[in-house]
Amino acid sequence: MKSLSIVVPMYKEEDSVFPLVERVHESLINYDGKWELVCVDDGSPDGTVARLKQAQDKWGDHLRVVELQRNFGQTAAMQAGIDAARGEIIATMDGDLQNDPADIQRMITEMEERDLDMLQGWRKKREDESTRKFFSRQANKMIAKVTGVKLHDYGCSLKVYRASVIKQIRLFGEMHRFIPVWVASVTKPERIGETVVDHHARQFGESKYGLSRTFRVILDLLVVFFFLRFKARPGHFFGYLGLGMGVMGSLIMTWLIVVKIFLGEDIGSRPLFMVGIFLLVVSLQFITTGVLAEMMSRIFFETSNTRGYSLREHVSDEEEGQWFNP
Ligand code: UDP
Ligand code: MG
Repeated sequence: MKSLSIVVPMYKEEDSVFPLVERVHESLINYDGKWELVCVDDGSPDGTVARLKQAQDKWGDHLRVVELQRNFGQTAAMQAGIDAARGEIIATMDGDLQNDPADIQRMITEMEERDLDMLQGWRKKREDESTRKFFSRQANKMIAKVTGVKLHDYGCSLKVYRASVIKQIRLFGEMHRFIPVWVASVTKPERIGETVVDHHARQFGESKYGLSRTFRVILDLLVVFFFLRFKARPGHFFGYLGLGMGVMGSLIMTWLIVVKIFLGEDIGSRPLFMVGIFLLVVSLQFITTGVLAEMMSRIFFETSNTRGYSLREHVSDEEEGQWFNP
């Protein structure tokens, strides 16, 4: 029998819990397999957990609640949910009802028909603040250009995956936005597709992110780019950098020699020139150190058993009875 896990990270979403669970049930009423809904409470200070427990009493244990010790952020919460998920197919979405659970079944069918490993939702008519939408569009274009994974809306949480693929990926930092790019590193890019999905304005609570997120995305993109490009051979990166700097230094020295010998000018008193060189060297140093640090952190996450979160309650393993089968 087919099995589906829907993973939803939630932070301060108390008012969304009941409508969310209800809508997921409505949308899966004719699903021809077993399914579970994995809600991850990301250390909410409000009544999110209490509501989830009430919802469990009402709807049953196929609503699974994963509680994190504190707020670890959307990426870690999503990873916790994916780790807990037992379905062969995993769908992720936001807990604020901005995504529509009604899209999930259609997405699964589309993923299977197109023989994909991942189907990304595309919020073509996105219901968010217009400045955020603008910057987000630009960021998306940059991501497509830099990573070569051509999608329109990396940030849309509504995604459907084959579990075997998404479980190979370890998310860290705020990397949930680059999931398609990480997925592309373990599968063929042509096995990643996108489809237009509904998007609604937030009904309850408020967004946890502002415009600043878009800029953080751009910084993260730099990390992703360097990682994908130089993951297997970081030495090359430093090699290119060293080579470039060497060429630049040689050119400058040649020029200074010309100035000194052929033009007979003094080269010792050019403060602006010195400042320029100084800034260049220092900025390169910073970039190099930053990239190195990011690579090390990535290696750390890949080789150790460390997760970006710690669990409050143990999540039970396979138990047939916990599935909901309409
Ligand atoms: N979220 C989370 N931990 C956080 C921040 C957000 O689990 O620290 C969840 C949040 O509850 C929601 C999803 O991530 O389900 C997306 O957050 P939000 O709606 O605030 O982002 P936006 O839709 O405005 O981009
Ligand atoms: Mg939202």
